[in-house]
Amino acid sequence: MPDLRSFLESLEEEGDLVRIDRAVSPKYEATALMKEYDGKKALLFERLAGRKAVVGICGTKRRLSKALGVPAEKTRQFLMESIRNPREPSMTKKYKAKTELAGLTELPILTHFEKDAGPYLTSAIVSAKIPKESGENVSIHRLMVINDNQLAIRIVPRHLHQICQMARELGRSSLDVGIAVGLHPAVLLAASSPAAFGVSEYAVANRLMGDLEVVDCESVDARVPAEAEIVIEGKIALNKQVDEGPFVDITGTYDIVRKQPIIRVEKILCRQDYLYHALLPSGSEHGLLMGFPQEAKIAESVAGVVPRVRDVNLTRGGCHWLHAAVSIDKQTEGDAKNAILAAFAGHPSLKHVVIVDPDVDVNDSEQVEWAIATRFQGNRGMVIVSDARGSSLDASGNQDLSLTTKVGIDATRSFLKPKEKFEKARIPS
Ligand code: MN
Repeated sequence: MPDLRSFLESLEEEGDLVRIDRAVSPKYEATALMKEYDGKKALLFERLAGRKAVVGICGTKRRLSKALGVPAEKTRQFLMESIRNPREPSMTKKYKAKTELAGLTELPILTHFEKDAGPYLTSAIVSAKIPKESGENVSIHRLMVINDNQLAIRIVPRHLHQICQMARELGRSSLDVGIAVGLHPAVLLAASSPAAFGVSEYAVANRLMGDLEVVDCESVDARVPAEAEIVIEGKIALNKQVDEGPFVDITGTYDIVRKQPIIRVEKILCRQDYLYHALLPSGSEHGLLMGFPQEAKIAESVAGVVPRVRDVNLTRGGCHWLHAAVSIDKQTEGDAKNAILAAFAGHPSLKHVVIVDPDVDVNDSEQVEWAIATRFQGNRGMVIVSDARGSSLDASGNQDLSLTTKVGIDATRSFLKPKEKFEKARIPS
């Protein structure tokens, strides 16, 4: 079974991992180093508050493709197929995490940015069973450390939120959760994927990895991957809330303080010589885990209106979330406008999209800007949709109602002019 340790070994063999062997503080110092290497190399802190920690295992698209064992151009498609064809993971009896810890403060949990409310777990998956039904949900949530045995959990109105609501309606006061840290990238990607409510993201991960083993928690009714480096068993208090935040989210700005639920920790277990996973908020690993599945959705949506989509990139400058560049094989004048509308439909948080021709690399912002400079006319190439539902993370929009103005840019060459006008000049070799 592939796990985090085997994946790290393969990164190191390829020279894609940098070891930091000096002692590093989990307060700010680790974040500064993570920022320095962000999007470039994965890191292994040998002594983060005396413990080992990995950084950036999902920090480039190449690493994601490698983790899934498929070529780069097939990765998005493979992810979507796995979401549509989940397969139950196999159950096993025991965790590999066997050493019990006394409290959360024993873990090397990072304090990331100046105004953050405190230390946060940022790479943890949280699993919960759907009450009275057979389904399960697994998703990534930021978890604020309150003290040794309490966390605050940010729950956006998606699946876990729905499960909490169902438990409340049954008169329950708490919801059992299994929290796991230190996992293979495929598990994290599955937990970030847009699987339907009721579909266990473990079943998506199992499909992606070929083999995932999960295990029942010891003190609560929830499941975690057997390979997890750290397992936290807990209960979400359904009628108790606390101030959560401020905390830096995907845009690199501070998310507001909200009342959010508390998790009471029942048990903490770790593997001997465990590997913590530190994930930089607003870094490329954060962006790719959120954005990569959305690129797949955009690609599918645009493929519904134009014959061929070459590539999609939710750009780094656009926080891997708000800006997309999409290359298409344009067949008729007007195709790019339809592609703009389809891109917005495929990823509702998308704010700006640029459509380009196949000779422009969407992964290179300079090339995309060149296409805007040479192939776009503002009076006829722009689509503006005022006050559409967008991202709650867009600080310039109406954050309470998640309203934002969306702009699409057609930077494909016009068919109404001779092709030679837009030809990229080459130097004969
Ligand atoms: Mn789900």
